[in-house]
Amino acid sequence: MWYFNSPQIVFGEDALCRLEELHGRQAFIVTDANVQHLKLDQRVQQRLERAGIPSVVYAGVEPDPCLDTVRSIAAAMTEAKPDWIIGLGGGSCLDAAKAAWLLYERPDVDPAAINPFDTFGLRAKARLIAIPTTSGTGSEATWAVVLTSCEEQRKLALGARELLPDIAIVDPALVASLPPAVTADTGLDALTHAIEGYTSTWRNDFSDGLCLKAVQLVFDYLPRAFHNGGDVEAREHMHNAAAIAGLGFGNSMTGLAHAMGHALGARLHTPHGRAVGLCLPYTIAFVARIEPDRYDDLARVLRLNVDEAGQGAAALIAALGRLQQALCEPASLAELPLTRQSFEEHLPHMLANAECDSDLVTSPRVPDHDQLQRLFECAFEGKPVDF
Ligand SMILES: [Zn+2]
Repeated sequence: MWYFNSPQIVFGEDALCRLEELHGRQAFIVTDANVQHLKLDQRVQQRLERAGIPSVVYAGVEPDPCLDTVRSIAAAMTEAKPDWIIGLGGGSCLDAAKAAWLLYERPDVDPAAINPFDTFGLRAKARLIAIPTTSGTGSEATWAVVLTSCEEQRKLALGARELLPDIAIVDPALVASLPPAVTADTGLDALTHAIEGYTSTWRNDFSDGLCLKAVQLVFDYLPRAFHNGGDVEAREHMHNAAAIAGLGFGNSMTGLAHAMGHALGARLHTPHGRAVGLCLPYTIAFVARIEPDRYDDLARVLRLNVDEAGQGAAALIAALGRLQQALCEPASLAELPLTRQSFEEHLPHMLANAECDSDLVTSPRVPDHDQLQRLFECAFEGKPVDF
């Protein structure tokens, strides 16, 4: 028995209007200083006012939110007593909103212990709306939560099925002013979700179509959104692609590029999408050695040349290289930039963190310690993976 989970997804022009239809007493908006600077929180508050719902804003979420941040948001929620919680922002804000909501409902739970096997009895106090302001994480459509243990400098890939938002509002007007570098980084995250979601060991007929469509949309529209942020059509398709990829991988999980990318991000503070996008070609080459068929499908969907079975992975890796170049993204750790000395300093921690990352569970091929070290070495030098 298997489940397909999805929030109600409201997308396209003026999707934010959905807020005017809500019934409730009090809303609590979880966001960050950047979103507040762009006054996007005010746009949400105005819509809520039209529904007669007062709201408070917590704008203190930092990139890669720590467990302590989640605890302090939950404390503010306990004071405000909301019946609607709204995560507004990139993945950090959405994930912080999910985790803080869980603590608000269940103050007895340790946020680091959020897991898919326990039942938490959420929705006794509030429901969750996710409104992304980047086109990447897909957190609006998943029950996954990534938090950071600041003491251990480690990312915790957590999640619980009940944390799936009730409503996801995918309004392209909220990404209109996303800077090019953030557009590129977050877009590569969506692409990595779609490719890993399609190749994960938990893939299924329902997630497959979503992942394939998202891969196509990213290749078609990300370069346009990057080069011309005012391209409304490209922005809208990219915003949809991120949510579609979220729905796909949210129902099949990700893999090795995310395990390595989390380890990179926690040590070097590389933006998440940049980190996983950088690792992706190396992990594709590694996984494709035992399971090439899925990469053939992906290459065909992108209309790449695949004359013979088994050539898809190489074609896909080449296409990823061209995409990275078009987006001015680094293709190796050295290009981040990172010196050999600091790479070697960080390597033992990155290896240890990647080895215990929960995303490894669904990788079709799991590297042993030596293979993982060689993968990081290749990713540092930009060398092809041939093992
Ligand atoms: Zn991701």
